[in-house]
Amino acid sequence: MPICENCKYTWTWKETVQKSFRSSLGMNCPHCCEKQYWTLKSKKVNGLLPMIVPLVMLAYLLLDLPAEVALAALFLTIPLIMTIQPFLVDVRNEDEMIG
Ligand SMILES: [Zn+2]
Repeated sequence: MPICENCKYTWTWKETVQKSFRSSLGMNCPHCCEKQYWTLKSKKVNGLLPMIVPLVMLAYLLLDLPAEVALAALFLTIPLIMTIQPFLVDVRNEDEMIG
């Protein structure tokens, strides 16, 4: 879960989800209202999360899974991504540029 670099407040899961929906570019800390930015690592890790979807599709093709199982897995993957995402977010006071 992200910890505000300014006031050391640990964001709750709910606060993180609500704020990341609005923007991953800059989120105001719920405690001190200071603007916090995702770290480069968080952006990279969270950018990889949707890759789980094609992996499920690949498993379906390679393992010859029944279509119902693959569909169920896909439907479970989306809430799973949303659930684990806040645990992978780190924030800091400045925006880190990619590259
Ligand atoms: Zn704060």
